[in-house]
Amino acid sequence: MRFQAAVLRSHEDPFTIEEVALRAEPDPGEVLVEIAGAGMCRTDLAVRRSAGRSPLPAVLGHEGAGVVVATGGGPGVALDVGDHVVLSFDSCGHCRSCRAAAPAYCDSFASLNLFGGREEDPPRLTDATGKGLAPRWFG
Ligand SMILES: [Zn+2]
Ligand SMILES: [Zn+2]
Repeated sequence: MRFQAAVLRSHEDPFTIEEVALRAEPDPGEVLVEIAGAGMCRTDLAVRRSAGRSPLPAVLGHEGAGVVVATGGGPGVALDVGDHVVLSFDSCGHCRSCRAAAPAYCDSFASLNLFGGREEDPPRLTDATGKGLAPRWFG
């Protein structure tokens, strides 16, 4: 699947609108959402000032709305194809804050949303040359 995205390649450069590719189906615990609308907020823009803590190059953005087009199933996925959803942040689901229905204060918020990422081979999200892009900004 190919689509256009705002890519940040370095902390000094502006975002560039590029064609990117997303491989395959969602993994267990994930869903694939066809985005109908998206925003870019100050948190996305703040990555440029994060002193290299967020992995780059990356497709940022974490606010959007759309329709679920595929689901990987598995624990924690209570969505079906066709469900309308809004996007937000990731949380662990099992720390004290998550268990108290306050996932915005998740103990793992920074690693899951801002500085974590994950190793993927082959990368799930690539640019037009096939180079991997950081896959887990805001989960
Ligand atoms: Zn935001
Ligand atoms: Zn948590």
